Amino acid sequence: MELFPGLHQLRLPLTGSPLGWVNAYLIAGDSGYTLVDCGWDMPDVLEALRTGIDEIGVRIEEIRTLVVTHNHPDHYGLAGRLVKLAGCGLLMHHLERIHIESRYAVVGGLLGEMGEWLRLNGCPPADVPELSHASMGILSRVNIAMPDREVNGGERLDTGKFDFEIVWTPGHSAGHICLFEPRLKVFLSGDHVLDPITPNIGMHAQSMGNPLADYMDSLELVRDLDVELVLPAHGEQFRGLRRRVDELLGHHEERLSQMRVIVAEGPATAYTVASRMVWGRSGMTWAQMPMFQQRMAVTEVLAHLELLHSRREVRKLQREGTVLFTPQPHAETHHAAAAGGA
Ligand SMILES: [Zn+2]
Ligand SMILES: [Zn+2]
Repeated sequence: MELFPGLHQLRLPLTGSPLGWVNAYLIAGDSGYTLVDCGWDMPDVLEALRTGIDEIGVRIEEIRTLVVTHNHPDHYGLAGRLVKLAGCGLLMHHLERIHIESRYAVVGGLLGEMGEWLRLNGCPPADVPELSHASMGILSRVNIAMPDREVNGGERLDTGKFDFEIVWTPGHSAGHICLFEPRLKVFLSGDHVLDPITPNIGMHAQSMGNPLADYMDSLELVRDLDVELVLPAHGEQFRGLRRRVDELLGHHEERLSQMRVIVAEGPATAYTVASRMVWGRSGMTWAQMPMFQQRMAVTEVLAHLELLHSRREVRKLQREGTVLFTPQPHAETHHAAAAGGA
């Protein structure tokens, strides 16, 4: 689908995923094309990509640069194969590059780390092996390549026809980037801002710092950009970046409130908090949730608890090899003061 002259959206299938597809964007330039995100390494994805560019009259060798918004399999998986096929360069954020090997190439270490981490956060020992292997199947859909251009954010991606600003938006992933074209008022948001999907913000064994605090800061960072059209990596393009940013900020504040209530009932691990939350509209109970969803839920809860911890609303206690969260004494006062001061 041509959105602007020289800017096409390609829908690449994510067979078996509730997301349905990933939006890749093909951007014309004076010397070849730039592709933003590429789906995972499956024959139907490559087929859809070939058909998509063929309809526009573009050959795969004309793709000169692949930009990956972040290294999740649905955005990065095909990169290795595509870089070889097209002979193109690969651009990604420095922080996305540093986990490629441990996540996708030498997996043994990560599995052990993940098991320890799940036990620490209260997962029942009997579930740990299945929970830590829950995303291993996806590895076969990643064909790695190392970037030949690493960015930090703030750089320009000037194709001659379009001049994008690279915006570093950590949160969903530590080195997530978005692309902003001020002249067109177009924003390629990757997985940072989606509508109506809520991007997953999780804290896991390899996370650095405070991902939800990063995410909320990154939302504030893009909230006031002069954008007319948002081009996300999943779902339909939409207008109203500021509205959506405010909805997402509100969603996380709502989740934080639910967790405050659960933690107030007594010291609880992230796993316990997750098992007591209401997830989605499906009415699915915790026990009915597939393992990979349970693990994702624990990582999400932990990202929220970490933010409450950084706001000095909860404390962490270590007991018998697990981490428990409990309200900070006088947390109400701190919270009221923080809210009043904002
Ligand atoms: Zn993602
Ligand atoms: Zn995605």
